[in-house]
Amino acid sequence: MEPVIDPGLNSAVERYYDITLDLYEDLWGEHVHHGFWDPGETPGLEGADRHAATDRLVHELVDYTGVPAGSRVLDVGCGIGGPAMHLAGPLGCTVEGITLSALQAARANEKAEAAGVAGRARFHQRDALANGYPDESFGVVWAMESLMHIADREAFFAEAMRLLTPGGTLAVATWAVRDGELDDDERELVRQILVHQVMPDFSSLEEHERLAAAAGFTEVATVDWSSAVANSWDPGFAQIQQFERGPKVMRDLARRRGVDVLGFFHAGPLMKKGFDTGVITYGALRATKPRQDSPQAPPSGPTP
Ligand code: SAH
Repeated sequence: MEPVIDPGLNSAVERYYDITLDLYEDLWGEHVHHGFWDPGETPGLEGADRHAATDRLVHELVDYTGVPAGSRVLDVGCGIGGPAMHLAGPLGCTVEGITLSALQAARANEKAEAAGVAGRARFHQRDALANGYPDESFGVVWAMESLMHIADREAFFAEAMRLLTPGGTLAVATWAVRDGELDDDERELVRQILVHQVMPDFSSLEEHERLAAAAGFTEVATVDWSSAVANSWDPGFAQIQQFERGPKVMRDLARRRGVDVLGFFHAGPLMKKGFDTGVITYGALRATKPRQDSPQAPPSGPTP
């Protein structure tokens, strides 16, 4: 099905990340994504705390997709550079990060300077689908929790294919929905989450696999991490609680930034319900660009 593209989507996403930059930084540090816990762990008690768990998600995606140390990486939807700083630091990669938010790009560059990796990690305000990088300029295309904001996912996979060198790796972690038809209640829950989070729609993990394969990727695989990340929305653990309990704090915030800033807080209980009922899922995808664009049989000449 052709995606419905809202021409105002990118500006709405840009604005959302501009106005939530410091809130997210207070809550999550430099990572604007879920944490990863082993099944059965309770965050902060016998499980990792939020910051350790968000670090862990990055390590899990590196391991699952096999990002080679020292790669040249395009980080699509880089936020304020948390994942990129790990790739550029311990893994020794060279990273170009792109985000729709100029404020995020500036903050990420500041953080890279402070961490001493500015020589290997640079951040820019650019659209994933109009990024201006030449063909085959990256060994890895990395997208952590950005694909849900991009309406034309088919175009995203085609663009990743164009940008990767032959044999290069695509690494994606994304929010998703369960495969198959949703019932009315499920559709309504998903609709509310999408509105609050400035996302056009969700695809299932299976749909992501189909799109990657259709774009020509090989060795396409996904893993469902829903139960490992769902704790991220645990209200007893999230510091979000302090905002929910303080209507005045919320009102002041909305007055200063506009009501859209509250989307994140509204989405918390909805996401929890989504994970509890199984309609919201979460996973990673890995895929490889074939070494030859179109595998062809060698020309068959006359045998001597
Ligand atoms: N990957 C980061 C940030 C995730 S938040 C992290 O894990 O910490 C989502 C990010 O996707 C934001 O930085 C947002 O600007 C970016 N994004 C969404 N749509 C985009 C697009 N079309 N082009 C570039 N970046 C995009």
